[in-house]
Amino acid sequence: MKCDAIVLGGGPAGSTCARFLRLAGWSVVVVDRATFPRDKVCAGWLTPGIFPLLDLNPAEYRAAGLTLQEIQSFRTGLITREHTTRDVPMLETHYPTVVSYAIRRCEFDHFLLQRAGVRVLTETNPNAAMERCTFLTSRPPDCTSTMSANYWLPSAV
Ligand SMILES: Cc1cc2nc3c(=O)[nH]c(=O)nc-3n(C[C@H](O)[C@H](O)[C@H](O)COP(=O)(O)OP(=O)(O)OC[C@H]3O[C@@H](n4cnc5c(N)ncnc54)[C@H](O)[C@@H]3O)c2cc1C
Repeated sequence: MKCDAIVLGGGPAGSTCARFLRLAGWSVVVVDRATFPRDKVCAGWLTPGIFPLLDLNPAEYRAAGLTLQEIQSFRTGLITREHTTRDVPMLETHYPTVVSYAIRRCEFDHFLLQRAGVRVLTETNPNAAMERCTFLTSRPPDCTSTMSANYWLPSAV
């Protein structure tokens, strides 16, 4: 199989990298040991600043029918051995604008990976194992080097 770049891992970092490479005209393959949508341990909070970095419009994301809760207030409590939130007053903090968004990572990561618009190889072979692979990089033209790394690889590559 021939491509300009193989991105290992299809999480937000990998899918965003793959998307920008594709938009720059590269042919890209993402390899992930998990099949998406996949779960990812996460609190699911995104600060507004991440949207321009990902080139993602919150309205576009919500229009896809995915969870995107706007957070403008926090209620902070105190739980100690002596006190619980029942007898200690809660501290409420309100902001004039949205300070955070809540998403579901299984949805978010899947959305970003699909949006990347590249070929995705995931676990297809139960015998797939960690292998040592060597790539010849030849792009941009003045860069020709050999890279070698251990990573999980589906048999399709
Ligand atoms: C408990 C917890 C709570 C968090 N809460 C937040 C939060 O609220 N907000 C926030 O912004 N961040 C949060 N984070 C951090 C956030 O989850 C990470 O910063 C983010 O997932 C990193 O994205 P990534 O694409 O680099 O990696 P990941 O999302 O971890 O994706 C890596 C991908 O690579 C694949 N992979 C790994 N190894 C291999 C291999 N050898 N071969 C093939 N594929 C492989 C995995 O299957 C995975 O899909 C939290 C993290 C934890 C642990």
